Amino acid sequence: MATLSVHTSPLDQPGAGDAGGMNVYVVEVSRRLAARGIAVEIFTRATSSDLPPVVEMVPGVTVRHVSAGPFEGLGKDDLPAQLCAFTAAVLREEARHEPGFYDVLHSHYWLSGQVGWLARDRWGVPLVHSAHTLAKVKNAALAEGDAPEPMARVIGEEQVVAEADRLIANTVEEARQLVRWYDADPARTLVVPPGVDLERFTDRRDRAAARRAVGVADDALVLLFVGRIQPLKAPDVLLHAAARLLADEPALRARLQVLVVGAPSGSGLAEPRQLQELAVSLGIADVVRFVPPQGPAALADHYRAADVAVVPSHNESFGLVALEAQACGTPVVAAAVGGLPTAVADGVSGVLVDGHDPADYAAAIRKVVEQREVLSVGARQHAECFSWDRTAGSLVEAYTAAMGEMRAVVRSPRDRVRDAVRAFSVGGTAR
Ligand code: UDP
Repeated sequence: MATLSVHTSPLDQPGAGDAGGMNVYVVEVSRRLAARGIAVEIFTRATSSDLPPVVEMVPGVTVRHVSAGPFEGLGKDDLPAQLCAFTAAVLREEARHEPGFYDVLHSHYWLSGQVGWLARDRWGVPLVHSAHTLAKVKNAALAEGDAPEPMARVIGEEQVVAEADRLIANTVEEARQLVRWYDADPARTLVVPPGVDLERFTDRRDRAAARRAVGVADDALVLLFVGRIQPLKAPDVLLHAAARLLADEPALRARLQVLVVGAPSGSGLAEPRQLQELAVSLGIADVVRFVPPQGPAALADHYRAADVAVVPSHNESFGLVALEAQACGTPVVAAAVGGLPTAVADGVSGVLVDGHDPADYAAAIRKVVEQREVLSVGARQHAECFSWDRTAGSLVEAYTAAMGEMRAVVRSPRDRVRDAVRAFSVGGTAR
């Protein structure tokens, strides 16, 4: 199968720039598909001259670096102009093989959907599309100072929604958004929850050892934010909530530790520098520590070391971070937006908060700290409801159904040319 991930590579470290949950999704699902005997070729844009054209990620999963525009200096917003070059490279790669080399296309994010739409028509195989985020939804929940997504993206998404043979939504909420806001066909819109690696993110490792690894004291009260630093993710709400906790209980200063793991993303950012300035202006700089993006093992230790993981996002199509924290036995305080009410079981694995008032987050954090032991058990149990294996299994079902449908209705490209010629000559006769 061909997987399209135009704007961000599965080989990138998530937690900075354009690399986040979608990258993790593509990697985890591709590995599971390969384990089921499905060869996966992932096409992504080359962003450095050092990258080899082809990389074997794991046996059965190949990453193809496509030349489309200059390696460096292009942001996500510049990429619509490179879609023709990207598509041409994908089509040329397929043309090197026997017809029917790819059985199905899975595109991730609307830029890839545009490429997939054309390849689908050319190859006569189904296009399965995952939006990951939707511009209309994002624009309806903008953080202060965040730039709205452009109309070109909205139109591009509408086109892909209309063209895809199957749309994969992370949650029922996202499926509803696709149907109501994008006029998606409900019969072609499937809910396939993402997963979590329950072996990598486990509560089995000793919490004290994790705290030593992360460098926080045994008796610290650790609040954790993990994710790309951008207004949408609202790390500022956590800092305000921490300031409130300290104002209400000054003695806590000796124990409170706020960890912010991640790096900036996109333009118009809440840069760490801005967050640092906010911490200074709130008088809490001494308790806030900024940590660069972490690989899975170190990240798991950060989750385990925390008393509470806080996900105060203005919007979140799912929120893998919430699931990973829970898998490590750490309860979550999250905004009740997007996929987070699915990712977090309110009152069982954490607490959901309506809105973004720091006072409400401070209260929710207090509640979770008081009930941490029981919520920790609930957190792991809730995380165990999700698995990448199940995600991959549901995707295979979606691919198979779409392929069956396609075989029934699609004619070969040669037949389609013949049809077009016939239609032209009929039109000519009529004239
Ligand atoms: N992540 C990571 N290292 C970091 C920070 C984040 O690997 O230092 C990963 C994290 O494990 C998660 C993903 O980035 O799987 C973020 O996904 P999420 O759905 O929470 O947010 P998104 O990036 O999709 O907005």
